[in-house]
Amino acid sequence: MIKFLDLHKVNQRFEEQFQTQFKLFFEKGWYVLGEEVAKFEQSFATLNNAKYAIGVGDGLDALVLLFRGYIETGVLKKGDGVIVAANTYIATILAIHEAGLKPVLVEPDEDSFTISPLEIEKKITSKTKCIAVVHLYGQLANMNAIEAIGFKYNLLIIEDCAQSHGINNTTTNSKAFSFYPGKNLGALGDGGAVVTNDENLYKVILRLRNYGSIEKYKHELKGFNSRLDEIQALFLNIKLPSLLQDNELRRNIAKRYSIEIQNPKIELPKILDFDKHVFHLYVIRTKNRDDFKAYLLANEIETQIHYPIPPHKQAAFFEWNQESFPITEQIHEEVLSLPISPVLTEVEVSKIIRVINSY
Ligand SMILES: *Cc1c(COP(=O)(O)O)cnc(C)c1O
Repeated sequence: MIKFLDLHKVNQRFEEQFQTQFKLFFEKGWYVLGEEVAKFEQSFATLNNAKYAIGVGDGLDALVLLFRGYIETGVLKKGDGVIVAANTYIATILAIHEAGLKPVLVEPDEDSFTISPLEIEKKITSKTKCIAVVHLYGQLANMNAIEAIGFKYNLLIIEDCAQSHGINNTTTNSKAFSFYPGKNLGALGDGGAVVTNDENLYKVILRLRNYGSIEKYKHELKGFNSRLDEIQALFLNIKLPSLLQDNELRRNIAKRYSIEIQNPKIELPKILDFDKHVFHLYVIRTKNRDDFKAYLLANEIETQIHYPIPPHKQAAFFEWNQESFPITEQIHEEVLSLPISPVLTEVEVSKIIRVINSY
């Protein structure tokens, strides 16, 4: 069986270092906000060409803290409208909601799966204050067009980078990352980070993640508790140096899929620029998605669907259930994610291509 993602194999590459470093960690007896978190924050900021990174509990919290940070610093206020792609993973939308802001759904661009700049402009009203961009599946959204719109209407732009670790050429001050195990940089549990160059925002989020406090028992803000665990930071410090190389391995697999899969029933993703895509997922489309998925499974190839139900059709957002986003809905019916990871072998990739071409 070719697994969709063999996480044990992904992490096995670092097992010896994990064991050695864990022993030292255990002997030190320091579990929260220690040297490992500080070291990771510094390296992760550097990787992103940014001044600051703040390690937090998970990706959802990173987004919530970003929005709350902007509310705390007066850039946003409760009730402001935030434009977001209707086909994102639900976390982006939940974060907007959790921060007391109002999500405004917009259709994606069919070719790139990322938010459509044309559709953004149609939804802007006097209440709109922010655009939440998601680099979905690992592909950089159309930042030039989005930043031009942000400039024209004076909107804040924040980036959900949970699927795009290693793309460091965007200029916003507001990036949220997840280190959920399956992400391109994954912990052995939950983790997340906010990345920014804005010193004021940095200082606020540093406090918000730790009870509004930077100095023990002195609380300047009504914060909450969302800190990157010291032990997850330890694992991430070991894995971080391999991230760009891992992305390159993913890219090589994607290139093979894009060249070698030749089947009129399968629509390949349109890659705008391979260098601006880190292939968190390789997502194809087909009219008979469920049948195709079953066929692959019968041939011992696991796949996944990202995602089966769009956020506006979820019970959690019952208030949107009657709304219609045809492009988004069609995407959710047709997409299928093929295996892609740094530990998928050439032989496995060849088999996947062969099986797909004979469908
Ligand atoms: C994974 C993910 C998140 C949430 O990250 P968690 O660490 O699981 O909370 C947010 N947005 C997107 C696009 C994601 O893929």
